[in-house]
Amino acid sequence: MRHFLSVFFLILVSLMTAYPQTAEQFAALWDDEHISKIFPSDTRHSDLKKYLDQLRKMGLKIDQVGLSNANREIYQIEWGKGPLKVFMWSQMHGDEPTATPALIDMFAFLQKNRDKDWVKKIGETMTIRGVPMLNPDGAELYQRRNLQGIDINRDAVDLKTPEGRLLKQLRDEWSPAIGFNLHNQQELTTVGSTPKQASISFLVVFGDEAKTMNPGHERNQRLTSAMIAALNKFIPGHIARYADDWTPTAFGDNFSAWGTPAILIESGGLNGKDEMYLVKMNFVAYLTALNALATGSEKTQDPNLYINLPENGSGGLIHFVFRGANLVDTSVTPVAISPRDISAFSERRRASFLRSIKIRAIGVQLPVKGFQEFDLSGFNVMQRFGKAKTGELADLLVYKRERNIDWTSTDLEKQFPPDAIFSAGKWIKGENLIPKR
Ligand SMILES: [Zn+2]
Repeated sequence: MRHFLSVFFLILVSLMTAYPQTAEQFAALWDDEHISKIFPSDTRHSDLKKYLDQLRKMGLKIDQVGLSNANREIYQIEWGKGPLKVFMWSQMHGDEPTATPALIDMFAFLQKNRDKDWVKKIGETMTIRGVPMLNPDGAELYQRRNLQGIDINRDAVDLKTPEGRLLKQLRDEWSPAIGFNLHNQQELTTVGSTPKQASISFLVVFGDEAKTMNPGHERNQRLTSAMIAALNKFIPGHIARYADDWTPTAFGDNFSAWGTPAILIESGGLNGKDEMYLVKMNFVAYLTALNALATGSEKTQDPNLYINLPENGSGGLIHFVFRGANLVDTSVTPVAISPRDISAFSERRRASFLRSIKIRAIGVQLPVKGFQEFDLSGFNVMQRFGKAKTGELADLLVYKRERNIDWTSTDLEKQFPPDAIFSAGKWIKGENLIPKR
């Protein structure tokens, strides 16, 4: 027994020293070595080309494999010489950019560290092909759809888009064993009904409506559990499962149906962290998956970590909530004033662009949690342009209740200077007067 135990420990120790990689180490490696320097949302096709030039100089194999509608080049990067074929593509939705720099950083890392034992093992086990920014025209316009106005991820059957045709061609010519379909979801997506942001959501994509299990799907569940375990070290409680409704025209579903079981990774938001943090989380997830495949540790992973994830939720979270404001309505005579909560959201924009903040809802005790909440119960509040309605700008003029204001005055802000003004997502006047909640 004693002999057995010592042999057991010897094997354990040798396994640990052979493959000692942990999620924390992957994150530290990204901190030290990432080559992406621009926020994903600010990364243009021209920036991608500069990154690819860097990768070429490092010796990576990069091919131009197609063109977009506007003749922007679409590229494929290849690394590794092993028999297992892994295919990853990003940004088929133009305004979903996080995974594009994450793929660049992953390939740069693998190439630079190709002589390290554990990286060498990945390269001997698999060949990885990656297509960063499948929809460069959409990326340029920062819009979901391609230049034809078609959602490429609903074009897997019709194949009306050059980008969709290319994606199918790349799969059919190579028949990869695993597909990674890399997207972004709304930053207000929550983990189930909690008010926690779903910073990363996973979906192991079935290949049919009946949700038939097969060995590839089971492997992907275990592989996803390995990624969840890694990310739990950094963003516990912020990981969810994307809804697994069968979408017959989507690429993920069809990749799985065509024999390339796909894993969907959706990057959301994480309040207080910038976009690069989610690039790092993607990098950690990818290296964890590749390493788990190379070492075989994926085989012993418990799939329940994935299976038991809460599903994505929505509606419970918003950027700003103003509670108990005495809201002034000048559209009726006499002017009406009634207590209301106002919620406001920030539209998705490139990091370098000003975000417009718009009213999402006006109501009594709105059942929603704000990243920032303000108590306006001591104030009368008027929308700056007299339009306190959903979809209008959340520009608010705030007056102490005891003041006597002629709300119909033509030059209100000059005649009656507000005590506080909220505009473009911040208090530009009187911030210290407003209690935070
Ligand atoms: Zn998407």
